[in-house]
Amino acid sequence: MIIDKWLSLWSIGEDHSLSDLKLIKQAGFTGVEIWGEHAVAEKSLEYAKECDFDIGMHLPFKNLNLSTVNKSEGEQVLSTMKRWLSKLAEFEGCHAVIHGGTLSEIDSLDQSSKVLIDRLTELNDYARTYNIELLYENQIPDKSRRTHVYPTSLGEWVDTLKKTNTKACLDLGHLAVHGESFKNTVSTLGELLKSVHISDNDGISDLHLLPGEGIALNEDPLDYLAEIDYHGPVVFEISPYKYKLDDILEHPFILKC
Ligand SMILES: [Zn+2]
Repeated sequence: MIIDKWLSLWSIGEDHSLSDLKLIKQAGFTGVEIWGEHAVAEKSLEYAKECDFDIGMHLPFKNLNLSTVNKSEGEQVLSTMKRWLSKLAEFEGCHAVIHGGTLSEIDSLDQSSKVLIDRLTELNDYARTYNIELLYENQIPDKSRRTHVYPTSLGEWVDTLKKTNTKACLDLGHLAVHGESFKNTVSTLGELLKSVHISDNDGISDLHLLPGEGIALNEDPLDYLAEIDYHGPVVFEISPYKYKLDDILEHPFILKC
């Protein structure tokens, strides 16, 4: 099967070089997703450009809570995201993946849902001026309900996508841990689906295993994506703590894509 095969640079760790990206290119990957949490992310952008990859970015999220009800914290998040979006534009990046954040004071749910929608809308407008698609990603909800993770359900996700005019990045690992149906999610998203993050896990934790080492990909998602004529990136997001670059590039499932 031929897909638009991408690799998340999280998968190869912070300590990577131009020759690593050249190997990724030789292995048939067409795009890379720069990991905004890497201190070397700007360097990765240069390497990606030099290798003529399609470029996307996973925006940073640690200590950056997009749905915080604290105004000055929220402003800081917005300015950090805008700085990355304009940097990505310098390298002609096409998409940026964003997390919705987490609310710990559940009694402020209405307020935080509103600020999240306002901030996503503002960032999406900003991204569009640079021809960048902002992709709002599904997360694993907190089953204890002590915190509200955005988005916490398929319904809430689609509602936010529509209200903010953003598009969807569907993470299959998150979906498997959430226990949601893949086909139902894809058909509900329809045209909103613009990117897929792929990794395997045991259905309990988001382990970012290679395909076949867990149960999340027992039914090959790529077959269904081909069936519905999906034409977006499929981004392998594989644990850098468990595997080496060669493990990824030589993996049979990834080789046949
Ligand atoms: Zn993510």
